[in-house]
Amino acid sequence: MGRRKSKRKPPAKRKAIEPLDQQFNCPFCNHEKSCEVKMDRARNTARIQCRVCLEDFQTTTNVLSEPIDVYNDWVDACESAN
Ligand SMILES: [Zn+2]
Repeated sequence: MGRRKSKRKPPAKRKAIEPLDQQFNCPFCNHEKSCEVKMDRARNTARIQCRVCLEDFQTTTNVLSEPIDVYNDWVDACESAN
């Protein structure tokens, strides 16, 4: 009698890849999570735009840049402009 070779593999542990939060509060119109960051890794630039008041900002990035960095740059630029 042959035994069936059925090895039970434990389910591979999958790392939950959570999308980084890319929605930020707008420093202009104060809407929550209305600003969306688009990273352009190929050009080392990133753009953030508020879909409510349509303010936007573009900055240079590096490989380590995250959307939050883009947002922080924007807020810094706003504050230094005031
Ligand atoms: Zn806005």
